[in-house]
Amino acid sequence: MGGCNCNCNKREKNKKICPICKEISEYIDRKIVREVVKTDIQRFIQMENYYICKNNDCDIVFFNENGDIMLLIRDINMRADFNKLKENSSPNCSGGSCGCGK
Ligand SMILES: [Zn+2]
Repeated sequence: MGGCNCNCNKREKNKKICPICKEISEYIDRKIVREVVKTDIQRFIQMENYYICKNNDCDIVFFNENGDIMLLIRDINMRADFNKLKENSSPNCSGGSCGCGK
């Protein structure tokens, strides 16, 4: 908890199956989700967990805990640096400087 943004010790439990392609999807910070979706989509981003599907053949990019909010490729603001986001969405805790106890 606290201000730790490192996912290293929540990575195991924070995985979900994509509702469409059934690939394992990883937790992603909803702040990141908000940054990359289109402006009119942002109001749908609530205080809950979101997951990112990394399957390039799948239309879903993000989905929420219940799977009732699914953000598709067309909902993403393509001006956002989305490819970089996909690469960086699973941070590896290398030093322990984050203080999250891992
Ligand atoms: Zn998927």
